[in-house]
Amino acid sequence: MAAKVLSGTELSRLKKEKLKQEVDILKSMGITPGLAVVIVGHNPASRLYVDFKKKDCAEVGIKSFEFALDKDISEKELIGLINRLNSDVKVSGILVQLPLPSHIDEGRIIDAIDPKKDADCFHPQNVGRLMAGKPVFSPCTPAGIVELLNYNNIGFEGKECVIINRSNIVGKPLAIMMLARNCTVTICHSRTNDLKGVCKRADILIAAVGRAKFIKAEDIKDGAVVVDVGVNRLENGKLAGDVDFENVSKAASAITKVTGGVGPMTRAMLLQNTVTAAKNLKDDIQAKMP
Ligand code: NAP
Repeated sequence: MAAKVLSGTELSRLKKEKLKQEVDILKSMGITPGLAVVIVGHNPASRLYVDFKKKDCAEVGIKSFEFALDKDISEKELIGLINRLNSDVKVSGILVQLPLPSHIDEGRIIDAIDPKKDADCFHPQNVGRLMAGKPVFSPCTPAGIVELLNYNNIGFEGKECVIINRSNIVGKPLAIMMLARNCTVTICHSRTNDLKGVCKRADILIAAVGRAKFIKAEDIKDGAVVVDVGVNRLENGKLAGDVDFENVSKAASAITKVTGGVGPMTRAMLLQNTVTAAKNLKDDIQAKMP
């Protein structure tokens, strides 16, 4: 039987409708959530992501402020901009589009963002809160995956969840979130022994490798839930996930597609974090209003 396709497009539309209502309420109280998006240099993929994010903001009524900076900007100048955004009452959330040019230390830039405005949930303080089970913000991609599974009634309790990725953006926070939902979690990476054997155990397999068609039908357990996070540009210019969708969808019980799966959910969670930040900053902002 063909797997159920878990549509991030559909769920993100519902989430955006709800967020628009929340933004309208905030606006009626004199608060317009604002997202500052900082992009450095001319990476075409980053440009595309930033344009999507601005469009999403407009859809739900969040004001977006773009700061497109020259690739040669110094780390000090970039931190100077972040400091100004930290104290700007019109800005509730700050996002610095990664990757940054190699002369800039991404960690120092993330550290410079006010944790209360950390729309990506990358700041160590917010990562720590997530670890401690007291999150303020949700890391966008992991939270989008969890919401998509939850919405489709995929149970978590006692399930074997295998995540192929150990980055700070995807694998590590996702593992914490799946653990908090009582999954038994395994994180795999490029040095994992018998990767295919580990994948085969998974009730929920999450691939964020960055290699097209990395996961084949024979790598999964019959009836597994497969989440494809990877976004790979093929030679023909088309996008492909990490999962061989055509064949894996015949063995899985549920699966996400690239595109229309995790991507739209990631974007929706960024909006949610911006609205959360605006709500949390409401008192501060009102106090500073002229
Ligand atoms: P990353 O930092 O490069 O992480 C890739 C992970 O895959 C690493 O943990 C790496 O292991 C592991 N890996 C690579 N080759 C492997 C192999 N042969 N066997 C086992 N593991 C292997 O990238 P990322 O930023 O986390 O993103 C991962 C993918 O997800 C990319 O395709 C990205 O475009 C996509 N993504 C999509 C969304 C979305 O919203 N749809 C959001 C974020 C990322 P090591 O740690 O050992 O190197």
